[in-house]
Amino acid sequence: MPYNDEQMATDSVQEIKDKLSIMDVVGAQVKLKRAGKSLQGLCPFHKEKTPSFHVNPDRGSYHCFGCGEGGDIFTFTEKIEGLDFKGALKLLAERAGVTLVYSQPDKNHDKRDRLYAAMSDAEQFFVHGLGEDTPAYAYAQSRGLTKETIEGFSLGFAPDEWRALLDHLSAKGYTVQELLEAGLIKEADGKPGTYYDRFRGRLMFPIKDGAGRTVAFTGRTLPTSAKVGEQEPAKYLNSPETELFKKSAVLFGMHKAKDAIRTRGFVILMEGQMDVLHAHQAGFTNTVALSGTALGDAHIALMKRYAENLMLSLDADKAGLAASAKSAEMAIRMGMRVKAVRMPLGKDPADVISEDPKRFAKMVTDASSAIEFFLAILGAGESSPHRLVLAVEKTVLPLVAAIGSPLEREHFIRKVAERLETVPEAVREAVGRIKSNTPTFPSPQAGNVSIPAERQSQRESLELLLRAVPISYPNTPFAKHVESEYSRIVVPPASQIHDVPERTVIEVGVTFGEDPGIDAADDLIRRFEKLVLNETYQAVLSRLRSAQATGDDEAAREAESTCATLAKQIASLSY
Ligand SMILES: [Zn+2]
Repeated sequence: MPYNDEQMATDSVQEIKDKLSIMDVVGAQVKLKRAGKSLQGLCPFHKEKTPSFHVNPDRGSYHCFGCGEGGDIFTFTEKIEGLDFKGALKLLAERAGVTLVYSQPDKNHDKRDRLYAAMSDAEQFFVHGLGEDTPAYAYAQSRGLTKETIEGFSLGFAPDEWRALLDHLSAKGYTVQELLEAGLIKEADGKPGTYYDRFRGRLMFPIKDGAGRTVAFTGRTLPTSAKVGEQEPAKYLNSPETELFKKSAVLFGMHKAKDAIRTRGFVILMEGQMDVLHAHQAGFTNTVALSGTALGDAHIALMKRYAENLMLSLDADKAGLAASAKSAEMAIRMGMRVKAVRMPLGKDPADVISEDPKRFAKMVTDASSAIEFFLAILGAGESSPHRLVLAVEKTVLPLVAAIGSPLEREHFIRKVAERLETVPEAVREAVGRIKSNTPTFPSPQAGNVSIPAERQSQRESLELLLRAVPISYPNTPFAKHVESEYSRIVVPPASQIHDVPERTVIEVGVTFGEDPGIDAADDLIRRFEKLVLNETYQAVLSRLRSAQATGDDEAAREAESTCATLAKQIASLSY
């Protein structure tokens, strides 16, 4: 009974199951070999050398005897793509050529559906505005974008009018409240009740989630859009955070890049949308961009879902390098292998690729590990050996300290020692000092890094109990309440929400009895929230310490204020 809290689309679910076999869906990700009645392969959800992952074509199910993961094509897609059920449904429906029929959308989901629909209609409106004879189209072409790229990424144009989109979507039946919540319109300053379009006179880039649903936009001004005497507007404007758009968890282009990332085994990370468009256009389809935010833990977890190797291709100016160093450190700490492409000074990837894609390909091939990259860059710019030591200590050693494998760490300690013409012992000691100053508490999203066992088991058992509620009490206000609280606390919600052991389901039934009140689990929820907040707090604290150690004042201030907010939240839960 895995989907009984999702009344919608039950017909579509069956239709998709009829059209897509488990072998189609799992076989696209896992090499399967026949073994008797079933098929087996290496489990994609845990690391193993001998196959314990079994697929049963007759039952349309899979099960791993190594890690216990199991389910059908929907749970598989949710887990491997990091999607919620609806996202997996949309993805599989597209693959199966099935049109989704929503029978009885419930209130909560209905609201999100309307926001998704508003974003999709807005995208259509913008795409329609980018006719081939418009100045915006000419501008896109002048930046070297082909028709195929413009269409493939659904670029659009927001007309330079105050209420074009607002009028269009109102006529389609969306309320002002919905458009505000979607971040598409704004209320005029000092004129309550007066609303206008957020994006005006801009080339529009839709930002999509893993299922290809539009969740936000970036709008870029056209070169001529400032009228004489007016202040030049910001070149890039992003959607605000909304219920659909958490900027710390979305990477531009991931929807199109993830398959290539998986098959090529690495992800290229760039700074802006334009970089990604040029990269994909030239065949570097495993490329994504940050688009205006700093790299965070959730971004890294998202990339790591598809590959463990990260190729940083950020701008080569001073700010770009500092950002690269910080990004590299975080990604290494979370277990990724990080290389960096050496960009020519003053050029961004879009420039290099549009001038000569082969040159960029060579830069990717020649890219060295992030540690060697920074050693080389710092070495090239520094004539004083003493200042070089200080620069290496500040930028490179934190990267070395972040490496989890002692052997690999030792390898780089020797490299650094060689470059500084000193003994490895000295480097080892400096690295050791950094390590002891930065306790490696994992972030909640960090996945496979170890969490202190006791705290983890407490959190896990609470989490299982909460997840079992919708299964034990399907379609009740109690279950709805617990579900919405759960997804408020764990962002993004864990994907295998239905994957709960039978005994936990029974335990929950016994705990809450036959007809629990809506708040029956609130005590439990509160304890769970506290544990999750505590984990986040520890992760931010370690970020604060490493920022202090590297002298990154801005990051330190940011982490400090996050710590203070979290501490307040935790205190408010400890009654
Ligand atoms: Zn497994």
